[in-house]
Amino acid sequence: MKTITFFPILIILFLAYACTEKKDSDSTDTNAVEGVHYLDGEPVGIEIVDGKIAKINHLSSESDLPEIYVAPGLIDIQINGYMGVDFADQDLNIEGIREAVKALWKQGVTSFLPTLITADQESLKNSFSILSKALDDEEIGMSIPGFHLEGPYISPVQGFRGAHLEKYIREPDWNEFVDLQNAAKNGIKLITVAPEIEGAVSFIQKCSQDGIVVSLGHHNGNAKEIKEATDAGASMSTHLGNGCANMINRHNNPLWPQLADDRITATIIVDGFHLNKEEVQCFYKIKGNNRTILVSDALDLAGLEPGEYVRSERKLLLTPNVVKFPAENQLAGAAQPISKCVGNIMRFTQCSLSDAIQMASTNPARLMGLTDLGEISEGKRADLILFTIEDGNMVIQQTIVAGKVVYSKE
Ligand SMILES: [Zn+2]
Repeated sequence: MKTITFFPILIILFLAYACTEKKDSDSTDTNAVEGVHYLDGEPVGIEIVDGKIAKINHLSSESDLPEIYVAPGLIDIQINGYMGVDFADQDLNIEGIREAVKALWKQGVTSFLPTLITADQESLKNSFSILSKALDDEEIGMSIPGFHLEGPYISPVQGFRGAHLEKYIREPDWNEFVDLQNAAKNGIKLITVAPEIEGAVSFIQKCSQDGIVVSLGHHNGNAKEIKEATDAGASMSTHLGNGCANMINRHNNPLWPQLADDRITATIIVDGFHLNKEEVQCFYKIKGNNRTILVSDALDLAGLEPGEYVRSERKLLLTPNVVKFPAENQLAGAAQPISKCVGNIMRFTQCSLSDAIQMASTNPARLMGLTDLGEISEGKRADLILFTIEDGNMVIQQTIVAGKVVYSKE
């Protein structure tokens, strides 16, 4: 990585700021962004019209453009909350969601799926009706293309159920799900299901027919069950390697069939705690750039001061890097934003910056059918991030959503 001194960063920030100011005062935004393209390291100027990428101009490599990268905004399809805002909080309101969105913009996240885990039906319904208010909010709606429902149709078995409360885990029930989908104003776009539980295959079929992406997670499915679920339309694994018991059969376990099937894209938490370096290396070698997605799986505690907190009736310990159940000394959730995972996977696998961005933006956009996101190309929505790489980590300098600057580092 090239090192960047403080002085050029100031110049870059000034240039980036100057370039992204509105050039006219009518309702049409006409902006331009300059930076080093994340794919090939060549300097580019990006013209933005009506919130979309209108033109990409290749600048002379002799132009003394500073080392600030430009890439599509990050897309996090599994995140439970951020900066103290818990998406499952029964008293959450639109202002709380707004706070979380703004905090995520600072981390370069331009789109995300607020994620709810297993809970009783009334709480889930209430949460989705609160969250659904954000979908068409003028300021933040653009950053919330839908929701991820992780559970409640997962394995009740200890180890596989992870941090999900057993008393609320149940078998799939289509009518119950439709009820949630109505509360969510049809916003549930992704659901995590265990393939081995009664009724899972027909439920997965119905979800797929309805355009809902199905991911396998918190399960102990065998090869046959995983194949049947995948035949029925499941296309992802939820945080592969986690939501799995510590002791599993070395031959017959849920990991191998999910790794072996090319129809399955694996989402992974690369925070340095949920998977060790070798697991990340192996998963990445098998799934490659095209079938790996980075997720934060961050809890609302992410970004807060380390210490003890109570969430969903349980005591949690936030260390500087991860959240644990202190009584069981077990992982309870992640505390790092996806921007951090980008740096980690580069370090763990030696993949390039463009590969890492593909796994944190292009792939989630493609899998979730967000056809106007995840790439820098003409006609796509201008969701862009400008950033430097410092000590191997992304440092977001500016975040742009639909052509509007929503965050600038001071
Ligand atoms: Zn989980």
